[in-house]
Amino acid sequence: MKYDVVVVGGRIGGSIASLYASKDDADVLMIEKRQEIGTPVQCAEGTTQSIFKILDMKPDKRYINAEIDGATIHAPDGRAIDLAEVSCENFLDGTGYKGYILDRKVFDKHLAIQAAKAGAEIMMKTTVKDLIRKDGRVCGVVAEHLGETMEIKADVVIAADGVESNMARQAGLTNPNKPGNIGSCAQYELFGLDIDPHQLNFYFGREIAPGGYLWMFPKGEDTVNVGLGVRSTKKTAYQYLNQFISRFKGTTPVELNIGGVPLSGPIDKTYTDGLLVVGDAAGHVDPVTGGGIHIAAFCGKTAGQVAAEAVKKENTSESVLKRYDEIWREKFGKNLEISLKYRNAADKLTDKDMNALAEFLEKNKIENLSKISAIKFLGKHPHLLMLIRDLL
Ligand SMILES: Cc1cc2nc3c(=O)[nH]c(=O)nc-3n(C[C@H](O)[C@H](O)[C@H](O)COP(=O)(O)OP(=O)(O)OC[C@H]3O[C@@H](n4cnc5c(N)ncnc54)[C@H](O)[C@@H]3O)c2cc1C
Repeated sequence: MKYDVVVVGGRIGGSIASLYASKDDADVLMIEKRQEIGTPVQCAEGTTQSIFKILDMKPDKRYINAEIDGATIHAPDGRAIDLAEVSCENFLDGTGYKGYILDRKVFDKHLAIQAAKAGAEIMMKTTVKDLIRKDGRVCGVVAEHLGETMEIKADVVIAADGVESNMARQAGLTNPNKPGNIGSCAQYELFGLDIDPHQLNFYFGREIAPGGYLWMFPKGEDTVNVGLGVRSTKKTAYQYLNQFISRFKGTTPVELNIGGVPLSGPIDKTYTDGLLVVGDAAGHVDPVTGGGIHIAAFCGKTAGQVAAEAVKKENTSESVLKRYDEIWREKFGKNLEISLKYRNAADKLTDKDMNALAEFLEKNKIENLSKISAIKFLGKHPHLLMLIRDLL
């Protein structure tokens, strides 16, 4: 078997890469190890409006469970801050407060179908075990399907195989993820919880989600994604989640998902001769929010286009594929770098700091905020002042 482009992994990054490589006339095979595209979900399903601009698609009710127009932050002491009142223009990727809760089981499959419509072939329940190399360059994969092993040759392999990416590791594209930099997540889709159907809710605190946060994202149909991510804790994410939801009497879970999310920023190099790395496999996730859907979409699209172009030029060496790395870094590189800095600073915040910040924001709505009130506040909180100095 021989294809222009073989894509490993069939969710956001993989399907979008397959779609755009196929649109640009490449002969594409997408390989997915699961028996169904999009399951298990392993995502809170919140995303920005920008993803539809990236994909040049109109949002469709079939895969949108809720439209979001605001968010509330809950400090460890229970104080609730409505973000609309403290103004965060760039919340949700510069699109203000507007966003969506997707139905990823439907959305991911929809993207795979778009890729197939554009000409991509898809193999399900097939696991890529190895990369094939010739003269030091990647030129295909070894895959296993229902006990049968096969060699599939390709001019370009796109690794979109998620947070535990074997492909990136095998290609020697070192992944800087250390255990503390992978967020461990657990999430219930919870039935019977009555919350505003257009608001996101975030909870912070050492008792709730140390090293991370808890989210409640409305899904419509009386269900809510209630999940959390933690880092370097003795208790598991699942234990923290059960502890939190025990307060919601009369609710019941209808789905449980456990998964990891890379929070250490992108890998140093996302290309080599004959291979590109996309999405979670490349660390394309915001280190503060854990959001990766819109980044995987942009990078998947760019990887598909650059791969197809390289095939047309009959040059799939890293000198040509490097363009992919340049394009995504120009779009997201700086943001991811800054976000990692913020996350490192946030790691040093104590519950006391967070409560103080929440109290300050509550008392000083943005229109009343003055330099004097901010200086007075920081004068009383030297720890916060030091963290801000570190950031500047
Ligand atoms: C609990 C949780 C909540 C999250 N919430 C949000 C959110 O609300 N908003 C947001 O933007 N982001 C969120 N994220 C992050 C987001 O889900 C990911 O960034 C995004 O799904 C990455 O897509 P991907 O295609 O790169 O990887 P994945 O979605 O991980 O897909 C990888 C695919 O590759 C397949 N695969 C792996 N190995 C092989 C192999 N060897 N052979 C064949 N197939 C293989 C897997 O089966 C899988 O289908 C969340 C993550 C977690 C864990």
